[in-house]
Amino acid sequence: MTHFAFREEDLTLEVDYVVVGSGAGGATAANELARGGATVALIEAGPWRDPEDYPSSTYGAMRDVFDDWGVGIARGRALWPIVQASCVGGTTVINCAICVRTPEDVMLQWERDLGVGNKAWRDAIWKHQDKLEVELCAEVVPPEAAGRSSLLAAKGAEAVRYDGHPMTRYVKGCVGSGQCLQGCKQLKKQSLNLQFVPEVMALGGTVLSCAPAERVLLEGRRAVGVSGRFREPVTRRKGGRYTVRARKGVVVAASVTRTAPLLMASGVKHPLLGKGFRAHPGTGVFGVYDHDVDMNVGATQGWASVQYRIEPGMKVETLSIPPEMVASRLAGAGKELVARMGDYRRMAMWVVAVRAEAVGRIKRGLLGEVSVDYSFARPDMERLRKGLALLARTHFAAGAVKVLPGIYGLPYEIGPDQVDLIENGPLDPRSYILISSHLFGGTTMDKDPTRGVCDEYGRVHGYEGLVVADASVIPTTLGVNPQHTIMALARSFADRLLDA
Ligand SMILES: Cc1cc2nc3c(=O)[nH]c(=O)nc-3n(C[C@H](O)[C@H](O)[C@H](O)COP(=O)(O)OP(=O)(O)OC[C@H]3O[C@@H](n4cnc5c(N)ncnc54)[C@H](O)[C@@H]3O)c2cc1C
Ligand code: SF4
Repeated sequence: MTHFAFREEDLTLEVDYVVVGSGAGGATAANELARGGATVALIEAGPWRDPEDYPSSTYGAMRDVFDDWGVGIARGRALWPIVQASCVGGTTVINCAICVRTPEDVMLQWERDLGVGNKAWRDAIWKHQDKLEVELCAEVVPPEAAGRSSLLAAKGAEAVRYDGHPMTRYVKGCVGSGQCLQGCKQLKKQSLNLQFVPEVMALGGTVLSCAPAERVLLEGRRAVGVSGRFREPVTRRKGGRYTVRARKGVVVAASVTRTAPLLMASGVKHPLLGKGFRAHPGTGVFGVYDHDVDMNVGATQGWASVQYRIEPGMKVETLSIPPEMVASRLAGAGKELVARMGDYRRMAMWVVAVRAEAVGRIKRGLLGEVSVDYSFARPDMERLRKGLALLARTHFAAGAVKVLPGIYGLPYEIGPDQVDLIENGPLDPRSYILISSHLFGGTTMDKDPTRGVCDEYGRVHGYEGLVVADASVIPTTLGVNPQHTIMALARSFADRLLDA
């Protein structure tokens, strides 16, 4: 087992495949390549964090596992945070482990509009998802781990008359500690730092952590390796340089915000590089009940509804967040905020993730800084209002005594006869605090090289031995949580490399 963490000395290696990024896409691709007998080096910008060292607070998570302290933002008419992790295992370490199959309508749209895939391709993706569900212990949240917030959501949805269900998640015996966003210290969540990355090493692979890749090395139009420099994760002090030569190919899976800029820095030319950024931006509505809910007891996310995935285009789900994050979401300061936080134990937070039409762009500045231009269009704002109003209604149907809409210009709290205030709420995106955690695009797939950067196996059009295997290739929104799709695509791309 070989792991190189931060070091002062330079390093040179040669392997069959170099994989950049160890998150949902990268760890899965590296694992499949290693299982297929290839020698693999997995290069990760962030540090290796063992579960016993996971942080306990939001501040600790921002410091230790979030990418850039979680300060990434999408800039447009509003500034909305983008959240991703930077550590071995990538965002799977801090995500909620939700596992949803790629919807058939989405893949049919890809085939029809983009020439991506066909029946055999789709069947292969679902077959990978069958296997992933077994390997990563996909498990429906049992009632005893759901927590009161999710049970209330189920009750409210039934009363409002829409479908919902307990989540299926990659967990083995979740005990409902509500700590997924800081990493699962109970070792229940099957994040890829605990699953596929150790297997890559056991199969003879090498992991470099604290090692942001700076460049994919190209010889003409062929990718032949990766170079970069070790970086101390907290102080950002630079260490030794490394070069990893790839005999067979380079797989880039550095996340939606990092993959396209890395390819740009490497001299890859394609007019659509960085374009086609899409997301499911989301925000929450708090219901306050006349009894304790204790939203932090139970699975971090335990219940969801996909009834409105296609029309109007949104997903609603429960989400528990720790007190310090709740404080940052409530209006007010000083004594007023402290008094409002007195409701904490009686609050349930449910979120709407908008399947947005908006399309943005990922850019790389002259000094290598990454920015994302992205603004909600009016139909997206309308979807958002519908989703928030639905959640408010669901809270009241579940017995909430008041709802905190968290919308600028609206009262701090509303009663059951005031939901129309949300329905007719502002259309100005600056009135809402949305966070994007489901990101897509930047190197999207399309059969036609003039319309997409990659083909249906992630191969960058016009280059040899260069594959993208993360959420960057996904050409549309999905309307469901993306990691199951990303992992299945990554496996399929790795298989194609092994077959070549
Ligand atoms: C809080 C949160 C909760 C979520 N919950 C869910 C959920 O429950 N279910 C679900 O399906 N999805 C969820 N998601 C989304 C899901 O986790 C992501 O869509 C998925 O992890 C993206 O996979 P990826 O491979 O594209 O990138 P990531 O998993 O983000 O991995 C990219 C990795 O590449 C590394 N990297 C970046 N640049 C470089 C470089 N230059 N050199 C080397 N390495 C680099 C990064 O440090 C990172 O570790 C959640 C996301 C967040 C933020
Ligand atoms: S809710 Fe707690 S036990 Fe369950 S997966 Fe998340 S962190 Fe682990």
